[in-house]
Amino acid sequence: MQYKAFTRNNFDRIRAFGRLSQDQVRAIRVVSEVLPFKTNNYVVNELIDWDHYEDDPMFILNFPQKDMLEADQFNRIAEMIGNHADRSELARYVNEIRISLNPHPAGQLEHNVPTLKGEKLTGIQHKYRETMLFFPSQGQTCHAYCTFCFRWPQFTGMSELKFAMKQANLLVDYLRVNPAITDILLTGGDPMVMRASVLEKYIDTILGAGIPHLKTIRIGTKSLAFWPYRFLTDNDSEDVLRVFRKITDRGINLAIMAHFSHQRELSTGAVQEAVKKIRSTGAQIRTQSPVLRHINDDPDVWATMWRKQVDMGMIPYYMFVARDTGAQSYFGVNLPEAHRIFTEAYRRVSGVCRTVRGPSMSTGPGKIRIEGIAEIRGEKVFVMNFIQGRNPEWVGIPFFAAYNPDAQWLDDLVPAFGESEFFYEQEYNKLIEEDKSETENRRKSVAHF
Ligand SMILES: *Cc1c(COP(=O)(O)O)cnc(C)c1O
Ligand code: SF4
Repeated sequence: MQYKAFTRNNFDRIRAFGRLSQDQVRAIRVVSEVLPFKTNNYVVNELIDWDHYEDDPMFILNFPQKDMLEADQFNRIAEMIGNHADRSELARYVNEIRISLNPHPAGQLEHNVPTLKGEKLTGIQHKYRETMLFFPSQGQTCHAYCTFCFRWPQFTGMSELKFAMKQANLLVDYLRVNPAITDILLTGGDPMVMRASVLEKYIDTILGAGIPHLKTIRIGTKSLAFWPYRFLTDNDSEDVLRVFRKITDRGINLAIMAHFSHQRELSTGAVQEAVKKIRSTGAQIRTQSPVLRHINDDPDVWATMWRKQVDMGMIPYYMFVARDTGAQSYFGVNLPEAHRIFTEAYRRVSGVCRTVRGPSMSTGPGKIRIEGIAEIRGEKVFVMNFIQGRNPEWVGIPFFAAYNPDAQWLDDLVPAFGESEFFYEQEYNKLIEEDKSETENRRKSVAHF
């Protein structure tokens, strides 16, 4: 199957199949000024249930909805479009909204970007000791955009292969001097939008370096859900699988970290075939998703997904709490609800599905799981624990927040038992300060030269 994207720029293709109401068309036009919009022929033809599209999770996952903006924001943009307002005036307003939507949660951009020989390694993030993230510049878009995600494509004008080589060399240099790192996680956007030749350049450089402490290469991707033909019929599909095999043949684990948000994404012949192909290369597939209102805020969905994933040979890995960014007021599930959904689903599945962990918030200090809701000496509390910590020593120490039925994120929580701060806070603030002054020093020394 030939990939065909639907975006704002070829809107008529979607209008042409006549399914969308006038209101929906207008809503998409308006909201997609702010939130990214891109879908494709697989999602449209094989995933969305057009007979009930207005409540369909696959539709909502890809098509911007009116309620994803506040009413006054929506109306003002609609008005500006209607009046053919000046593009730059519109852009200014859109930007204002975007900034209010917290586009870089948990200090993603400024923190955890390492340096080597005084040079900042953009494209690398190293927060948890064992695992470095790598954002290949050619993988910063996706086969379709999730409406809950606040990322938009970044393109580079540089020659792809040349740039890949340069980036991969830096990555390997960093890896060499950090023997605690066992895992590289290629992420994006979606690295599987890269051509096989570009992916291969990265993988060859990494494998060629022969780094003994590197045990696992992971690739985070939504392609199994949004474009399984990536592994079936794209003109370089066979090459993708060959590159995967190259990794496993070297005795290095290859883990495809697959994003699945709903069981519908597991239902097509194409995804089932793609999973088989990937598994036949010796790769493992681990699955994850945030819990999202209107999409999967139901224990049935999760229990069904986990069972089906295991049937297909995949390993359930994470359930995330929706980040404090983008259309969170539309998608957000509060913490008690997230915990209930996780627990009820977990209780319904056998041990082979219980490799999953959650609900987990990816926060500045670390990945924090809501372990449970308890009453301790008359006070109702959230019991929490780090799955990953900015300091690895924080992992495995239960801690307690005062119960708050409306809390959606760590920021909404305060310590239980009248304590003034969580056990990690002082140390975390110090780590952040060090980060900042390091950046500051680097800036100064650059200025000096
Ligand atoms: C989740 C995450 C990882 C990987 O953590 P695992 O628990 O090993 O899957 C690595 N780095 C960052 C910044 C993360 O958010
Ligand atoms: S596939 Fe991942 S990165 Fe891409 S839009 Fe969806 S959540 Fe965001």
